[in-house]
Amino acid sequence: MTKLSDLTTIRVGGTPKQLLVAKTTDELISFANRVWDETENWLLLGGGSNVVVNDSIPFLDVIQVSTRGIDVMGNVITVQAGENWHEFVRYANSQGWAGIESLAGIPGTVGAAPIQNIGAYGQEVSTVIQSVEFFDYDSRELVVLSNEDCEFGYRDSVFKRGRRGIVTSVSFVFDGTEVSELEKTSEDVLNQRRAKGMVLDADDHDTWSCGSFFVNPLVTPSFARTLPLDAPQWEVGDEVKLSAAWLIENAGLTKGFSLPNSKAAISTKHALAITNRGGATSEDIVELASFIQTQVGNTFGIYLVPEPNIIGF
Ligand SMILES: Cc1cc2nc3c(=O)[nH]c(=O)nc-3n(C[C@H](O)[C@H](O)[C@H](O)COP(=O)(O)OP(=O)(O)OC[C@H]3O[C@@H](n4cnc5c(N)ncnc54)[C@H](O)[C@@H]3O)c2cc1C
Repeated sequence: MTKLSDLTTIRVGGTPKQLLVAKTTDELISFANRVWDETENWLLLGGGSNVVVNDSIPFLDVIQVSTRGIDVMGNVITVQAGENWHEFVRYANSQGWAGIESLAGIPGTVGAAPIQNIGAYGQEVSTVIQSVEFFDYDSRELVVLSNEDCEFGYRDSVFKRGRRGIVTSVSFVFDGTEVSELEKTSEDVLNQRRAKGMVLDADDHDTWSCGSFFVNPLVTPSFARTLPLDAPQWEVGDEVKLSAAWLIENAGLTKGFSLPNSKAAISTKHALAITNRGGATSEDIVELASFIQTQVGNTFGIYLVPEPNIIGF
């Protein structure tokens, strides 16, 4: 039986009660209706690159989104939720569609991209999303949500704030530009990401992760002024964004740090990634995350919020 450790990039998680792989939207809806009627204990899975699931969580029903297809209608591109995100970026580049070239190398599916409004190297997916087709948990209806309805924010959306259901497809509108320019940007980004262990590589334990484990904290300007002068800070509206990686390293936790007898460690390439060095348990991952939160909290008075969905703890 397939374990969640085989389906997630941080490679932890036990055996689900059942694994339902949906290849069409109709299948997705029928699996959802069936599972949602029976239990509260279900997990929707895309590429498994932003979840940490307890190894011993019992009776978890898992629906995996594996729908495929890209439709072009005028200037609106509609992509099924199960399409691979990085492959879609490559396709968009080849068509001269600008706006996601810097998001190359992010693992996972197109359907998960709006959930935390994926972002990197100055781009966020929300800027090119026109609408999202969504199977709503409460009404059991397929609805179309506009960009505004999704209430996108920094690594945030309405889907992270209680609107439960399934993104079945995402519609994009892009500007047009030179293919060679887009491909060059993606290649530059991929090189930078590889140096930080942020491109999946089965042979490199630094990439057995969920990417960044914590979001960069947003604080008030007056709080930001209490921090050391060399703490990186960016103004975001009325708030100030801090570097979670800087906070971790300056709380005394260096790259490669591990707790005694644990197979989880901070990446040797990036202080913000918690990695599985091979054979880590879900407890190893969660214990290290909570140790980092405590150290940063005690040093700077800041609570680091985890970016991945941590299930069963
Ligand atoms: C090496 C590495 C680098 C990364 N770099 C970045 C980065 O630069 N920027 C960034 O933003 N993220 C990054 N991530 C995080 C991750 O890749 C993204 O969050 C991605 O969008 C998750 O997609 P997924 O399909 O793997 O989602 P999963 O991990 O399968 O799911 C994540 C969450 O979304 C929900 N979900 C999944 N699919 C759907 C759907 N169709 N409808 C509703 N809910 C759904 C799940 O239930 C779960 O709560 C990185 C991860 C790794 C491992």
